[in-house]
Amino acid sequence: MAGMISFDEIDGYTVDVSPNERKYMCCICDSFILISPVHLNPSMGFICGFCWQYKHRFVKENDIILPQPLYEEFALSILFPCKYCEYYTFFDSPATKHEIQCANRIFECPLSKLNKWILPTMEYCNWQDTDGLSMVAHIKEKHEEFILRSPFEMSYQDIKNSEEERRLYIAILSNRSIIAISSEYDKEQNQLIFRCRSNKTGYAELNYQCRVEFSTSHSKVTDFVLVKVLPLGAKILETTEDYFSVWLDFLDDSSKFRFYFEPSLEPGQLNEFYLEDYYY
Ligand SMILES: [Zn+2]
Ligand SMILES: [Zn+2]
Ligand SMILES: [Zn+2]
Repeated sequence: MAGMISFDEIDGYTVDVSPNERKYMCCICDSFILISPVHLNPSMGFICGFCWQYKHRFVKENDIILPQPLYEEFALSILFPCKYCEYYTFFDSPATKHEIQCANRIFECPLSKLNKWILPTMEYCNWQDTDGLSMVAHIKEKHEEFILRSPFEMSYQDIKNSEEERRLYIAILSNRSIIAISSEYDKEQNQLIFRCRSNKTGYAELNYQCRVEFSTSHSKVTDFVLVKVLPLGAKILETTEDYFSVWLDFLDDSSKFRFYFEPSLEPGQLNEFYLEDYYY
């Protein structure tokens, strides 16, 4: 039967979406919905799988939330354009990782809307840069009060006593690279969560890794965990390696956290990663 619309001329029966097509965008992060599970809040709009990980931030007790299996099925036939280049991405495919390493990636200031959940009362900064390299100069000029001086250390007491504006700490590693360290309380889990994000493109394996050492008065030994560092604004489904969480009950006023950053892999070890996921 001949219908009005035919996708037959297009490889894989795919629908090409314009970069400004609002109806395929998430109402929380304002980007294309590329990751499942997709949910609908009828009064707000669709919520992507990336944002759904942090539903404790925006879902209220009486909100109506509807899972969207049909949307997920339909989205599989759509080609979504990368925000920064000519690349196209499929829903829920490994290629959604493309944005993490897109060479044309635009980096927003860590004090932008990007971190609105940990900085709810800020006046957000609109600064952005095509390669992130001038971010160090920008941070020094405009956000001096957020800079965490080396050695990169903070105490639980500081975090507890700080105004919410101080939930973000910026470690300057060189005149080209910064790491934004955010701290967030998860009241449901009774945890304090740290995330490290850099102005460097690439998978965590091509980026820095962070070694977080922490100590309390009752544990004489300093414990540590390794945390992956991802690009600022990277949309990924987090695994336990992508953040550092610690029970609040475990902490006391003498608890301290110290952050060490180092490149994750030696240059010679990189080839495998390019082969595995970097395809068009
Ligand atoms: Zn979203
Ligand atoms: Zn791209
Ligand atoms: Zn800024």
